[in-house]
Amino acid sequence: MSKNAMVPVPNAPVIEIKEVAKIYKMGETEVRALQGVSLTINPGEYVAIIGTSGSGKSTLMNTIGLLDKPTIGSYRIRGVETSKLSENQMADLRNKEIGFVFQRFNLLARTNARRQVELPLFYAGIPAGQASKMAVDALTRVGLGDRTHHRPDELSGGQQQRVAIARALVNKPSILLADEPTGALDTKTGEEVMALFEELHDQGMTLIVVTHDLDIANQAHRVITLKDGKVISDTVRVPPKSVVGDQPPLPVLSTENGNADHGATASSLIEIAGGLIHESA
Ligand code: ADP
Ligand code: MG
Repeated sequence: MSKNAMVPVPNAPVIEIKEVAKIYKMGETEVRALQGVSLTINPGEYVAIIGTSGSGKSTLMNTIGLLDKPTIGSYRIRGVETSKLSENQMADLRNKEIGFVFQRFNLLARTNARRQVELPLFYAGIPAGQASKMAVDALTRVGLGDRTHHRPDELSGGQQQRVAIARALVNKPSILLADEPTGALDTKTGEEVMALFEELHDQGMTLIVVTHDLDIANQAHRVITLKDGKVISDTVRVPPKSVVGDQPPLPVLSTENGNADHGATASSLIEIAGGLIHESA
């Protein structure tokens, strides 16, 4: 595929998924983790993706995050068709376009906040001096400008997640993709993190939050519900700023079995963290 094919198209939706299916083959049986999913997300939208355990949230997140390819269908990110990209091109696009935030922060234990946030920049080949400045700027943006030399064990859970958010933002991605971002936090620090997301949304960031928690989903402006690998509802709760109206109620969701996501996402993450560690060593 030529380099041109990877140039973003002006005014394209951030995400355009058309008739995507993901089929896992397990010996003789097939698991249809996603079936016929189509959705468009425009720049600046704040979207929650919800659904019970096994509904396909992680599979959709891995697809959107360019960690895994659909079996069938088209996925365009800022107009760039991803279905025919090589692994390296996928990784390039992922590094440029996607910032990941994970449930368990995925920070390095003995590394201070500034270094954590610099890592993706080193990975992208940005010189040390510039990387350091960009990292401090990103930490300031999440309210941690005075904590740049603190290690994870010297920070609260909410502050650790904010370091992870700074790390996700430092490359100036088009999309911030968060998987259960408050899942490891108590209610109060979880609210802090959600307040930060609202702020980022106000600044024009495109946010996608995958969660099984309705309270978290309620804070997004659009809620997409998955069931059995299909989109069963797609509700705009907060209309675009110029339009003011009643917010439709969220669909009722049954409780997720178990509380942790141990699916493909976790392992992909560890790979990312591993890559960063490796690159920075
Ligand atoms: P959720 O994140 O909503 O819990 P997942 O996307 O993890 O759902 O899973 C959707 C379906 O696909 C489930 O039935 C799950 O068992 C199956 N699945 C997910 N990953 C794999 C895999 N790597 N191999 C086989 N089946 C999988
Ligand atoms: Mg999951």
